[in-house]
Amino acid sequence: MTTINSLEKGLFLCSIDTELAWGSAHRDIDPTTYQHWESYGRVRDSVERLLALMDRYDIRATWAFVGRLLIDPRDDAENALYPENPQPARKHLVNERTAEPEFLSKWYTPELLQMVQNAGASHEIGTHTFSHAVAGEPGYSKELLQQELTAATKQAEHLGISLKTLIYPKNRTAHTEILADHGISAYRTVPESRISKLPPVLRGVAHRVDAYLPVPVDISYPELDGDTWVLPASYYYRHTGGWARWQSNLVRRAKLRSGLRRAAKNGGLFHIWFHPYDIASDPDRLLKPLEAAFKEVSTLRDKGLLDNLTLGETAQMLQDAQTEAPEREHPRPQVQPGKTGAERSVSA
Ligand SMILES: [Zn+2]
Repeated sequence: MTTINSLEKGLFLCSIDTELAWGSAHRDIDPTTYQHWESYGRVRDSVERLLALMDRYDIRATWAFVGRLLIDPRDDAENALYPENPQPARKHLVNERTAEPEFLSKWYTPELLQMVQNAGASHEIGTHTFSHAVAGEPGYSKELLQQELTAATKQAEHLGISLKTLIYPKNRTAHTEILADHGISAYRTVPESRISKLPPVLRGVAHRVDAYLPVPVDISYPELDGDTWVLPASYYYRHTGGWARWQSNLVRRAKLRSGLRRAAKNGGLFHIWFHPYDIASDPDRLLKPLEAAFKEVSTLRDKGLLDNLTLGETAQMLQDAQTEAPEREHPRPQVQPGKTGAERSVSA
């Protein structure tokens, strides 16, 4: 894989795994007992508030939707559009014909797509696969991923959307060599953290120090995997459950600020990610540090030190730089002449 060591400007990326109950479908539990079940019911309001904040500071994100979330399960004609897609590995089956509307709304919320598309900021619509198929689970294969992407692409075309970005469910990447054939030019990875490399006996302490103190976050750099760009995540903006309930907003703000400033200073990516249900766990609390971060992006952007693109736009910008396409309105890295293949690097 070729790593791009430095960009002309830092980049702020935000990817949002939009899945609701599909995110827990592979678990062998009653979905109504899952820790985020109640938050799913607050996702619509939380997304509305998040979109308003993004509009205020002109922040664009990549919303990666699970395809099934966007269909009407009781519409036979709509379901018939995706015959090649097998039933997902859903361990707790839902009877769409008899389920209560409130229960169904945690699986099927097509209005979220309209909300994102109607926002003032121009967000990207990506895919989180058609049915949240998780690599490594029983039945997962290259063929299954192909079927998932074929169904997602067909649905996107039906909705007038051109898919460019895949966010792998559970961040478990697999068979990345087939992505370009499905028009996918970018995917996200979550690199192993410094903490996960420590001996087990130190990991617990290091984890708490990192979570509860304003330890700066790492930034990342794009990589080229065959014909597809890898845009590694830098920071998971976590819900407020479990140990995170004691994480203060001051720490969250400090971490976001450190990532943005490091990206601006070093020409790297500060790529945050979360699920709508993370925000919905406590929107009053979690939207405040995000707003501070969006304001900081706006300030750094005004100073010409940082830009904010979607993942698909970032892949396009990097590709343009590689192919030495004409100057675009977005900042673009400059490919150092005389270097090719593994030696190629991009610098300011
Ligand atoms: Zn997911």
